[in-house]
Amino acid sequence: MAQHYRHSWPARIAIAALFLGLGIASVKLWRQMQTSEQEHIREVVRYEATNLASQLEHGLHDQSQGLLRVANLWNQLGRLPEQQWRLDNQFSLDNFQGYQAIQWLGPDLHMRWILPLAGNEAAINFVLTPDHPNYPLAMLAKSTGKARFSNSFALVQGGRGFVLYTPLQIMDEQQKPVFDGFLQAVFRVENLMDNLLKNIDKNKFSVYLEEFDKPIYSREQGITVASLQQKIPLHLINNQNYSLRLRPSAQWVATLSSNLPTFVLVAGLTISTLFTAALSLALSNRRRARELKAGNKRLNAEVTRREQVEQVLRSSSERLQLVLDLTGSSKDGLFIIDPQNRDILYMNPATYSALGYSEQGFIKLFKDKPEQVIRDYAQWIANVRKAQTSEHSSIFQQYMRRFDGSFQAAEISAQLVNVSGHEYLIGVSRDNSERLKLEQQLQTLSQLDGLTGLFNRRYFDNQLGGEWRRLRREHLPLTLMMIDIDYFKAYNDQLGHLAGDDALRRIAELLKGCLQREGDTACRYGGEEFAIILPNTPAEGGRHLAERIHDKLAELQLEHPGSPLERLTVSIGIACVQANETELPDDLIARSDKALYQAKHQGRNQTCVWRQP
Ligand code: GH3
Ligand code: MG
Ligand code: MG
Repeated sequence: MAQHYRHSWPARIAIAALFLGLGIASVKLWRQMQTSEQEHIREVVRYEATNLASQLEHGLHDQSQGLLRVANLWNQLGRLPEQQWRLDNQFSLDNFQGYQAIQWLGPDLHMRWILPLAGNEAAINFVLTPDHPNYPLAMLAKSTGKARFSNSFALVQGGRGFVLYTPLQIMDEQQKPVFDGFLQAVFRVENLMDNLLKNIDKNKFSVYLEEFDKPIYSREQGITVASLQQKIPLHLINNQNYSLRLRPSAQWVATLSSNLPTFVLVAGLTISTLFTAALSLALSNRRRARELKAGNKRLNAEVTRREQVEQVLRSSSERLQLVLDLTGSSKDGLFIIDPQNRDILYMNPATYSALGYSEQGFIKLFKDKPEQVIRDYAQWIANVRKAQTSEHSSIFQQYMRRFDGSFQAAEISAQLVNVSGHEYLIGVSRDNSERLKLEQQLQTLSQLDGLTGLFNRRYFDNQLGGEWRRLRREHLPLTLMMIDIDYFKAYNDQLGHLAGDDALRRIAELLKGCLQREGDTACRYGGEEFAIILPNTPAEGGRHLAERIHDKLAELQLEHPGSPLERLTVSIGIACVQANETELPDDLIARSDKALYQAKHQGRNQTCVWRQP
């Protein structure tokens, strides 16, 4: 049986709770790390964005410084010769590709000089009139003497641009500063921004320049992370209407984010799983160890028990062998059979060898024709069964047939035994023919009279009763003859007791010799009295026999000095009965006795037949 080591419910719940707790802690830690990393990324992005905005501001500021330097020369030295102006500003143009043009707008606000002319021809006749969107700003620059950076506007050259107005002044005759127009740098939006951004890392951000929150320039950077977008207010020279919207590229953000939180989450979950698994395993092991110990204990107990059983089996099988050896040498047959299908489960050699069979021959014959082995087999089995349920003896006198066809008397002790719902017959058989013979002899002896060899009085009683019953069934006559020696007391007295005994023997011989029919039985009824039972014989038959006895006795001429006839004579009484229900054997005896008495009375040496009075 495969034993599964499962935890108990409380242990399972505890392990599950622990696993859940560790899992939740891992997820929380992961979330926290992720949030802090997001914060960190946001921080970096903000820093980088601010940095970019500041670089942009500085880039423009650097350019304005170049122009301011030219303006300062102008202000201090007076209006510069055109050639020198061009040389100085050409330097700025060469240094920075963001310019569209550098121009001198005269104090009358008419365009004077343009550098370079190519591409800016449209501006040659430009006049800054009050309806120009930059007019107020220019006027502010003029009045404050400070450079001003315009909002974006439609350039005369086409497209949108900015102008950086740097006011110029010269001294009049009274050495008073007089407005001398603007040194103005014109920028195209895209060009300026492209050049300002040129030296800044392109890959980090998508850049949008907004003016009053409306985009006027963009430099896209593929996929970006909108959630991390930054809006930085710009101070372009002194114009605060611009702002920079920076959206970090996903690629860059990816380089900022580390796998640490995910790693921590995975590691946390893995460790939680492993820890719970290890704990579960440890619990399992402890439990298994406990169960193993219990199992071992049970096993040991089982081993001990089996050893005991084996010991018992060994000794009982030794005992069985001993029993078999003993039964093997026994002269009695010992067998165990299945009475239904006549299979022989066991038999010792005496069972078959004493009858002259081989083992196999006996087994086969018993199976096929049991009646040929045990006479009246079926009846015998029925008797055994009957004896089992009643108080009858379980010892049966049977006849077994030998191999040569003769019969052997066998006393079989048989017992039906039920084992697990199946019936077996255990039998012990013994050849008792010798004993039967002895018994028979004893039986016969017990029925005979020792002196005369005739049947004795006990036998007479039995025989008379038996014949009485038999003949009554068949409605046949039964004759009883009582014989008494005449003057026998005197015989003894005169010739001696031994002679008397001898005379008794001679008369017994005579009586036996007179019997002609089988079934006629002569018995010594008493001292010198004899009885003859004549079954199926009428009174007349009895009379004939009586005559013969008288005749034979007369022929013998046995001397009797005490008798008037001087020889031994007998008196005979006969009674016959057509046996019927109402009369008893004793009645017959009484009647023949009466007849005998009558014979004595009438002078002895004669026969009287009883007649119904
Ligand atoms: P009755 O003619 O009237 O018969 O006269 P009885 O003398 O024969 O008288 P009874 O029949 O009474 O005789 C009995 C005698 O038989 C007594 C006894 O002496 C004798 N007797 C009985 N049994 C034996 C015996 O076994 N041996 C001898 N020798 N005598 C016996
Ligand atoms: Mg007598
Ligand atoms: Mg007598």
